[in-house]
Amino acid sequence: MKIRDYHYKAGQICSRCIMDDSVPGIHFDGNGECTFCKIHDRMDKKYPMNSLTGEVLKQKVEVIKKSARNKKYDCIVGVSGGRDSTYTLLQTVRAGLNPLAVHFDNGWNSDTAVKNIKHSTNKLGVDLYTHVADWEEFKDLQLAFLKASVPDGEVPTDWAITSTLFKVASQEKIKWIIVGHSFRTEGSTPLSWTYQDGKYLKSIHSKFGKLQGIKSFPIMTMTQFLKYTFIENIKFFRLLYYVPYHQDEVTELLQKELDWNDYGGKHFESTYTSFYQSYILTRKFNIDKRKLHYSALIREGQLNREVALKKIHQDPFSGGIEMIEYNLKKLGLSNAEFEQIMDAPVKSFKHYSSYYNFILSLRVPMRIGTNIGIIPEAIYQKYFNFNY
Ligand SMILES: [Zn+2]
Repeated sequence: MKIRDYHYKAGQICSRCIMDDSVPGIHFDGNGECTFCKIHDRMDKKYPMNSLTGEVLKQKVEVIKKSARNKKYDCIVGVSGGRDSTYTLLQTVRAGLNPLAVHFDNGWNSDTAVKNIKHSTNKLGVDLYTHVADWEEFKDLQLAFLKASVPDGEVPTDWAITSTLFKVASQEKIKWIIVGHSFRTEGSTPLSWTYQDGKYLKSIHSKFGKLQGIKSFPIMTMTQFLKYTFIENIKFFRLLYYVPYHQDEVTELLQKELDWNDYGGKHFESTYTSFYQSYILTRKFNIDKRKLHYSALIREGQLNREVALKKIHQDPFSGGIEMIEYNLKKLGLSNAEFEQIMDAPVKSFKHYSSYYNFILSLRVPMRIGTNIGIIPEAIYQKYFNFNY
């Protein structure tokens, strides 16, 4: 086994951030500014950070509290042990809400992530519910995505988390799910880099998986999503849109208040995520998620563009041969099988069955849903302001 070389490959780079033409469907305007900067500006206009933001958040918190009258919990917060979700949990408690923290354990948690979740929920006095996936089932789904040759290898985790949050909310009769995503620090991920829906997961699994179906964790279908959203009235709230987020200050605050520990890279709370993002995505798919994160920080004035351009030329993979071997062993893949996966022609979600075309046909109801707050603006922008 040899570590494959890392190459930074890009033609035109946005004049404002560092997103580049390696992203299918990206456009640059007359000033050389990219689609992602435009999406950011639209989001920033809709969710401005100004002297009124605190008041807007207070009103939202009142709405959430009202929805939970006489119930044990006001809301659910998804936790991974990472910076964003831990900060979201802290801010939720500070806002006066009583959340139930929900964690999806896919079998890849690092020790640091486990400790972070334990320390933060203990210190904040928040109840924690952990849903543990059956390892053989989860592994089968992950392997299926690797064999499908799509860049969505992290989608089994992401979709299982979303599905678990909805399921727990439904069971506990909680109306609000608070998530830690913020366009200000994470940007908007293009669909060509990450696409997810329940039908897509099931189609990949039935084609490439060895097991029959998944029983130990939920994979939400469109029908279930519609039931949760329109009948049970369960909604998402992105709390980080309303609070200041300066990465260095947040890190320091979490370390001080919650005994939180940092990892090497963004979303590296899981050993597979670290390996997948820094090695498989960069080598096989020419996808480097640091570009999204750095670009978001540049737009927010938290990172210098020249510094980011320098950083992006450095290989994000620092785990060495041991990290590759650890991951392959855990997945039950031989070196030869893994090299075959790395060399297989790249495919996208469009090669498989999904709800993509159906969602595209819903432009008008999606816009209405976004305007009345049922569908997150970030989701709408992703589907309809991007010609992928
Ligand atoms: Zn840009």
